[in-house]
Amino acid sequence: MKLSSSLTLLVLAAVLAGLTAAARRTMNGAGAEAQTPGGAQRGTPCKADGNCAPDGTFAGTIGAPVVTLEEAAACLDSAYLCLGLEWKDGMARAFRWNETTRVIRIRVPLPTGDRGQAREMQQAAMRGVRAWDGYPFAIMVESRDRGTPADFTVEWMEKPPRNQLGLTSTRWTQEGGRATLAVTSFRLALASPSSRGPLATHQIELTAAHEMGHALGLPHSDEPRDVMFPTNTATTLSARDYKAMEALYRLPNGVGIWRGNEP
Ligand SMILES: [Zn+2]
Repeated sequence: MKLSSSLTLLVLAAVLAGLTAAARRTMNGAGAEAQTPGGAQRGTPCKADGNCAPDGTFAGTIGAPVVTLEEAAACLDSAYLCLGLEWKDGMARAFRWNETTRVIRIRVPLPTGDRGQAREMQQAAMRGVRAWDGYPFAIMVESRDRGTPADFTVEWMEKPPRNQLGLTSTRWTQEGGRATLAVTSFRLALASPSSRGPLATHQIELTAAHEMGHALGLPHSDEPRDVMFPTNTATTLSARDYKAMEALYRLPNGVGIWRGNEP
C-alpha cells in the first residue's frame, strides 16, 4: 500500500512552495520501484502514469488449474475481485486459503523505539489485521511468541521503500490438485516514507487491513473508498471489500477463470 494521493498533493504543494530537489525526488515517479524480490505483480491496476503498487506480490509453482469456470459465472457479483486479478492469455487464477483453515494466527511484535509509541503502533497493526476477523476465518493476533507456531509474523520497516507503507508477499503451491497459500512476508512501515517521522497509527491500521486483504488473497480495488485501493484513501473496510472477499471464498481454490469460451 502506498501513501495517499492527498498527502502527495500536500507534499507537491510544499515542493511548489520551494522545497528542495531532494523532496521532489522522494515523492515523484512513485510506483515503478521497490518490487518485492522474486515476486510478480498481482492484480495491480497500473495506470498510464506508472501508478502501480508493488505490494501484494505472489510467487510459487502454479500448475494448470484443476477447476475452471467461465468469467460470467465466476465473476458475477464479485465487486472488484475479477477486475483486480492478473489476466494472461484470457485466463486469471484465484488463490486463497483452504477451507480447512480454522484460525489464522498472526504475530505482531512490538516495534523498536519509544515504548509508549511502539505499543500504540503494535495495537494499530493488530486492529488492522483483525478487521478481517471472521471474513472468512477467525484471526488471532499475539504480541509475543506463545509457543504455538504463527502462520506469519509482521515485520516492521524502519526505513520503508519509497512511498511504501506496506508490502505483502504470498506463495502459492499446487500439489495433487490442491493449492496452498503461505504468506512469505508481511511488512508494515513504522516511519512515514516521506517525512521519516513516526507513521500515524490510523495509517498503520489502514495499511495492516490492506495488507491482510492481500494475505487472504484479495487483489487491488479500482475504487478509492475501498481498503484494497492501492493507496490509503479509504477509512474503513467497505461493502465492496467484503463482497470481493466473499466472492473469492465462494470460488474453488486455484480456479482458472476463462474469459470467453474455454479452449
Ligand atoms: Zn496493495
